[in-house]
Amino acid sequence: MYAEKLEMLIDGEWVQASNGKTGSLVNPADEMEIGRVPHATTDDLDRALAGAGRAFRSWKTMTAAYRWDILSKAADLIEARKGDIARTLTLENGKSLTEAAGEVQFCADATRWYAEEAKRAYGRIIPARVAGVRQLVMKEPVGPALGFAAWNFPAGNVTLKIAGALAAGCSIIVKPSDETPGTAVAIGRCFQDAGVPAGALNIVFGPSAAISEHLIASPIPRKVSLTGSTPVGKLLQRLASESLKRCTMELGGHAPVLVFSDANLDKALDVLIAAKFRNAGQVCTSPTRFYVQKDVYERFIAGFVERSRKVVVGNGVDMGTVMGPLITGRRLDLMDEYVKDAVAKGASISLGGERLDRKGFFYAPTVLRDVTDDALVMTEEPFGPLAQIAPFDTFDEVVERANSLAFGLAAYAFTSSMSTAANVGEALDAGVVGINHTSVHEAETPFGGVNESGYGAESGAEGLEAYLRTKMVSEKRV
Ligand code: NAD
Repeated sequence: MYAEKLEMLIDGEWVQASNGKTGSLVNPADEMEIGRVPHATTDDLDRALAGAGRAFRSWKTMTAAYRWDILSKAADLIEARKGDIARTLTLENGKSLTEAAGEVQFCADATRWYAEEAKRAYGRIIPARVAGVRQLVMKEPVGPALGFAAWNFPAGNVTLKIAGALAAGCSIIVKPSDETPGTAVAIGRCFQDAGVPAGALNIVFGPSAAISEHLIASPIPRKVSLTGSTPVGKLLQRLASESLKRCTMELGGHAPVLVFSDANLDKALDVLIAAKFRNAGQVCTSPTRFYVQKDVYERFIAGFVERSRKVVVGNGVDMGTVMGPLITGRRLDLMDEYVKDAVAKGASISLGGERLDRKGFFYAPTVLRDVTDDALVMTEEPFGPLAQIAPFDTFDEVVERANSLAFGLAAYAFTSSMSTAANVGEALDAGVVGINHTSVHEAETPFGGVNESGYGAESGAEGLEAYLRTKMVSEKRV
């Protein structure tokens, strides 16, 4: 049963839209409506803006220790409510309960990390050129923030924005995805119940384009943070430029995986299968372009197909499910298009390549071999359970192919040679690189892309820095 009550959080109150308007929320595993999502009116948005502006003026003056106390309580509540939040997450997003619980645990860890790190928003003193002068460099919260978050990590994407902003002393208005609203509400309740003051955290839902246009046009927010696709990132950056709001852009990726012939193939395959079919491939760091050195190419494909065949596809709430559905039916059509196009250009299907004949948005774990570099699925972010495999000969050739797209989020390499590992880590044009594994995002490490995958980082010390600005105060003794 879907248990979360869908409401917006505006200036400290949980409310429906002021005109009562709602949209449908559907469970992707059975296509049934499970709730109605309130759609904010411009009046609702203006109340959220006014609340965020007012709350910022007092929240920024609280000590880091005070904010630490509230955020630590929020982290404890997230952890205590993990089972319920994970269930809501699975019913909205489709991923397995195990994956959902892992994501919620990450949210508790990240909130604790930010709470601690805010105590270390140090400034510095710069020696002056003149006697009697002290030059202080201070870190201040940047101002009220706006956070727009995608549905693929419904808890994680939202929590990183809320915890980062609040820890730094900013207020925030979050617009989570309307596909996964209940998870954001459940996370928001943890912060609110922990004592975040009215207006410091606001959560709104509704048509994304109209909401972002209205919120970004307001002079109140000073910061925009988006986790979403590259086209939406470009749009929001254009809107933000009108009033020169600072941006953090966590955008799409198309992660290359370089498998060298000296890699431990069994270990590499185990890691890669888990990473590939996590959240049905709807992960910005999902391994998507598999380049395998020629002398191990056939062995790699055989191992990949054998393991992919064992991936249990089903409703995320059922025991034993490894991979759930895609988020919407539109994505199934896109997967079909990618497969058809790749095959027309010379690839062959080693496994899957079709939607599953059952209710829900299920697509088979799919392995495509001999995929050419000009196939659409090698240049557009696939965001689905497709693994594209192609052979390569030399280090220089594969690095050039890996770096050939405008994306630059995650990249991976598998090798047992220390010098290849060092060389490839430096050569790959990406914001995060995993060598011999795919774990590239922890609460304490900076995570973000380069080039058209965006800029700025979340989590780690850099994640806090994203909500801080620098002020220099020069004091002269008189
Ligand atoms: P999207 O860009 O369409 O939507 C993301 C969010 O942005 C939405 O929830 C909405 O709030 C807002 N949005 C959407 N359309 C908008 C518009 N026209 N104007 C203003 N705001 C709008 O992305 P999606 O399809 O929901 O999510 C998948 C994308 O997110 C993928 O490209 C994925 O790689 C990316 N992503 C990136 C990261 C990262 O950290 N780099 C993490 C997760 C997902």
